[in-house]
Amino acid sequence: MAKRRIKKSVKAKGALALLLVVILTALCTGFAVTQKHKIAKEAETSVPTEAESESATAEPTEAPTEGTTVPTTTEPTTTEPTTAKAPPVSLPAASADNPVIVSPTGDKWELTVVNLSYCLPEGYEPKLAAAVEGSSVQLDERVAPQYAAMYAAAKADGCTLTPYSGYRSYARQKNNFDRKVDYYKKQGFSEADAIVKTRERILPAGHSEHNMGFAMDVVSASADFVSTKEYSWLVAHAHEYGFILRYPENKTQITGVMYEPWHWRYVGEKAAKEMQQSGQCLEEYLGLA
Ligand SMILES: [Zn+2]
Repeated sequence: MAKRRIKKSVKAKGALALLLVVILTALCTGFAVTQKHKIAKEAETSVPTEAESESATAEPTEAPTEGTTVPTTTEPTTTEPTTAKAPPVSLPAASADNPVIVSPTGDKWELTVVNLSYCLPEGYEPKLAAAVEGSSVQLDERVAPQYAAMYAAAKADGCTLTPYSGYRSYARQKNNFDRKVDYYKKQGFSEADAIVKTRERILPAGHSEHNMGFAMDVVSASADFVSTKEYSWLVAHAHEYGFILRYPENKTQITGVMYEPWHWRYVGEKAAKEMQQSGQCLEEYLGLA
């Protein structure tokens, strides 16, 4: 039920986008970018889910919605004015086969996008801080205070945004990815097919927002999270603290990742509010979709 309600409100916001004249002038080149060519041999069309349970020992107990195919149903029409607004950052074109390396530095650091097409430098390690006091879950030190502020505000409203999974190291992501590939190979898949299958479950190392320390899986990594008051609170208030629902249900075709109600990403207050109003996902906001 909650899902349906949210879907409707997202559609309504999609319509609102028509009215929004977002003046984003500054073409910012805050990202260090370089081409890289290493994943070329891997498959092109997988729909990776970024969900990666923290229970590192739990082998592929397939997460909430294994086999979820990206729906082909109609997207809310984000009617872009023909006078295209300039995206807030300028990024070179990239693809899964020809990903571009990005670094979360510069004055638009909070808008750094990582997905199948854009990734962090190999072995990237952010400076970290506890997401909330006393928690072992960490985030980029620039993001942690923002999460802590949101946590406190939610707490005051009777909602506990327990940090479940924040920063994950590049090495760990790689290890998780490789172990899953091995698992599928043992099931009889060829190396190439095992990689494709793995990419439907886990983003490769450096391609996850958890490797960047910008995203938090709140409370759990379960579809049931949708029915909690914490989720409702986030939908209503997260943007006020600069966080967005990174993988909305109606944007899977664009994000390439299935609906993840538990995954909240910091993009800064300005961008979060603008995206909340326009109904855009991060790729759309950055002019990548
Ligand atoms: Zn996540």
